[in-house]
Amino acid sequence: MGMIHYLSESDFKKSLDKYCLDKCSKCGGILEVSMEHITVNVVGKTMDIEEIPMLKCKKCGVTYYSYYAQEILYGMYNELKRRGDLGVKSKPNGYRKMYDYAASKGFVYDHRDYESIPGLRFDDEHSKEGFLTPVFFDRKALLYFIADPEYIVDIFSETYGHIGKKDSEGIYPYEWDVPFGFNTNGKLVFWLGDIDTMDDMSQGIFRNFNIASDHLLIDSEFYQAQMNCIFSEPIKEKQIISNMKIFVNNIHNKYGIELSHLVNECKIQEINIKRPIVFNEQSVSGIVNAFDKILVEGISVVGLKSLYETLYGEKRKLGYEKWQSIRLIKEILKQLGSGVQEMPDIEKMISPLYILHDYRIYLDHLLSENEQEKTRLHISETMGAEKFSEQEKIYYELIRRLDVLYQYLVLLSK
Ligand SMILES: [Zn+2]
Repeated sequence: MGMIHYLSESDFKKSLDKYCLDKCSKCGGILEVSMEHITVNVVGKTMDIEEIPMLKCKKCGVTYYSYYAQEILYGMYNELKRRGDLGVKSKPNGYRKMYDYAASKGFVYDHRDYESIPGLRFDDEHSKEGFLTPVFFDRKALLYFIADPEYIVDIFSETYGHIGKKDSEGIYPYEWDVPFGFNTNGKLVFWLGDIDTMDDMSQGIFRNFNIASDHLLIDSEFYQAQMNCIFSEPIKEKQIISNMKIFVNNIHNKYGIELSHLVNECKIQEINIKRPIVFNEQSVSGIVNAFDKILVEGISVVGLKSLYETLYGEKRKLGYEKWQSIRLIKEILKQLGSGVQEMPDIEKMISPLYILHDYRIYLDHLLSENEQEKTRLHISETMGAEKFSEQEKIYYELIRRLDVLYQYLVLLSK
């Protein structure tokens, strides 16, 4: 960078008294921390700093002072004035402040990130400084944890996820559970304060994958979610519900047909839509129930019939008046997808709705012993599991198929 000139002390001080943002005020691009060599001249006094964290726009390249840089420059300038010197040169001395989190564990991080990246220091939740210091890892570290059933790793978007260790005592769902991100270099990032909450063994595994900071963090959903409470991509379960609503809206806008039904009841059920923490009949049943109520009962049969009539006209099949929701959705999907090449098998696509229904009847304990066994077999077979006790496998397959189904319904109803 060239020399930055200030013609008056007050201009200089004003430039050190600015809010640091995470976006460029000139072009709106995202800023990231960039280590820069800067030379600042204030009415004849020169400060030459070889390495200082600046905030640099990824789009237009403009740089802004980070809070860290503001403080360094302020201190240096006052020191120059006090001594009556004309210039000072500063070389990096490799000093790294250590915070009081996971302190004895030897994690490598750069306190200048904490002091430069906007928002990290303004953290009311944690009384000790340094909680939101980014600590960087080789992303391969996660492979170890994904393979270990003691842990739950959930990557819910390209740049955001969470990992938890199951509580062996079974009192809490997790012994610890923390978010992580991936930066634009593909490095895995945790907050130092979160690492502090992990058990020794997990810390030890992560420690082996710990790498030096490359200072990139802001351009990730992990950071954005933490700072601006913008939630990244929701979990699949929520996406399914949101896609169902988009489908209902699309139909309303295109055909003037109202498919929503029992709206308030569905709103209440939505609270139960979440990722189960453990996978057994009991924990899965609440979610299955809620899905069935929202996706099947929450769709008006009258509306579906009227949509069926509109789509099929004179080609409607005999006896359709007696059809229930799932059959109607199937025929509607068939017609909506009729012009589409490589449309997946309709029976398979619609299968998760039947399974929701079967599952719910099974869980309501309305069946005889013999029928229960048949239903268990049917559900596991359809969902590609060996046994009904493989609840986790069945659950994820169900969610995957529901996700596919509602993505199709959204795309085909536009
Ligand atoms: Zn810019």
